[in-house]
Amino acid sequence: MSDCLFCKILDGEVPSDEVASNDHAYAFRDVSPQAPTHVLVIPRRHEPDVGSLVEADPDAAVAVLGLAKQVADEVGGSYRLVFNTGADAHQSVFHCHAHVLAGRSLGWPPG
Ligand code: 5GP
Repeated sequence: MSDCLFCKILDGEVPSDEVASNDHAYAFRDVSPQAPTHVLVIPRRHEPDVGSLVEADPDAAVAVLGLAKQVADEVGGSYRLVFNTGADAHQSVFHCHAHVLAGRSLGWPPG
């Protein structure tokens, strides 16, 4: 999508700090990290959120989860995967993405 920030990152039009990638997904560091490790994992296919990705392309959804696991395994220890879905859940970029958060103790419940 031409006006999607994360599609522009995938195209290289907006720079990003790559961490890992596979055929269906791309991982890069969040510009405003909320933990020592804060990586975003996005599908190469544009879908607005995780629910629509699962319906439209289950293989891509599995690839996003697999790449998130790979990133977390490389850090080691406990981690959290977050898919903010919808504005009231604090989703601000409407291209499906997983947050991988690690490297510190994480509180619960979330805000
Ligand atoms: P959301 O709030 O939609 O769940 O998460 C969007 C995330 O994208 C935020 O954590 C925000 O810091 C990150 N972000 C926004 N713009 C950019 C950018 O241009 N580059 C990178 N690397 N991350 C971004």
